[in-house]
Amino acid sequence: MNAKRIVVTGGAGFIGSAVVRMLAEETHASVLVVDKLTYAANPAAWRSAERSNRYGFLKADIGDLGAMRDMLAHFKPDAILNLAAESHVDRSIDGPDDFIQTNVVGTYQLLQAALDYWRRLQGGANDDFRFVHVSTDEVFGSLGPEGRFNETTAYDPSSPYSASKAASDHLVHAWHRTYGLPALVTNCSNNYGPWQFPEKLIPLTIINGLEGAKLPVYGQGLNVRDWLHVEDHARGLLKALALGRPGECYCFGGSAERRNIDVVESICKLLDEFTPKNYAHRELISFVPDRPGHDLRYAIDSAKATKYLQWRAQESIESGLRKTVAWYLDNREWWQPIRNEVYRGQRLGQLAAV
Ligand code: NAD
Repeated sequence: MNAKRIVVTGGAGFIGSAVVRMLAEETHASVLVVDKLTYAANPAAWRSAERSNRYGFLKADIGDLGAMRDMLAHFKPDAILNLAAESHVDRSIDGPDDFIQTNVVGTYQLLQAALDYWRRLQGGANDDFRFVHVSTDEVFGSLGPEGRFNETTAYDPSSPYSASKAASDHLVHAWHRTYGLPALVTNCSNNYGPWQFPEKLIPLTIINGLEGAKLPVYGQGLNVRDWLHVEDHARGLLKALALGRPGECYCFGGSAERRNIDVVESICKLLDEFTPKNYAHRELISFVPDRPGHDLRYAIDSAKATKYLQWRAQESIESGLRKTVAWYLDNREWWQPIRNEVYRGQRLGQLAAV
């Protein structure tokens, strides 16, 4: 990897912290985590990397242009990996404002700061600089029963979250095409794994199951997602940093399409095995009203990433889910305070709340 000094925005989040751990364990890069530390941040998730003297942390908002300019001038990175975002669809339905501010305006300000910084770089440093923007397959909207998204799929976002991510992707491409900033975009499917904030389907189901609480499933649970283990995604992002071409986008998928109800039932079986009770965990499943604008199916064709980035997902959903359930069982001291003090598992994203 050419990049020796890397800024990871959102590096205290679920995916960002996986990237930071991977950079610590598998590279010699110096890393600066830039994160506003919202409710979703997990500083504990990168503390293992922090022990190294190659790590620094700046609490800052990517939407603060002055702070971003100062940060770049002082740290002098070879690359920026932008993972800072508001990321939960249900919260975007209840309150789109933070999503517009961070995902759209924040990305814009970060691009402006990056452009100023990049223009001052000389010679090789200017050519080698990379801005990698991390996005989602949700920008493509919903698939029917057939077909998969790829890099040529037209954008058609359904939720305030996916619309804000789509806007940010367009800004990144525009800053490349108009100003020449060496930027690229990655779009990936739903991630799962350790340190995921317990509002998303998989950790919420595991934790509710461990507490004997109901396991909410939206609608009939027939929505399909293409599950990608977070470490496979982090590996893909480092490949995009090393081999990705400016102006391009790359799609990462887990080749693991599952209906939500199947994911929940698989977790129930694992909970029956790991923490047997006098009832089957599947008895806790409770079908609840569907999410407004809920996309039916996402699936990704990762052929371009395989061809040009030499990447493919390595973890199967079966082994990944088993490891993830085991991780939440072993790390109660991390999620229990979040559960008690930050988010108790209540339903979010119903239109009545707007
Ligand atoms: P996350 O919510 O776990 O973490 C986001 C991090 O960004 C948090 O640490 C938060 O404090 C930080 N942040 C938020 N606003 C900020 C701001 N204005 N300035 C600086 N930091 C800010 O999200 P995640 O799941 O790790 O997702 C990371 C990226 O990957 C996002 O761009 C998301 O859209 C994308 N993505 C996520 C998934 C998924 O399944 N989780 C799938 C596809 C794409």
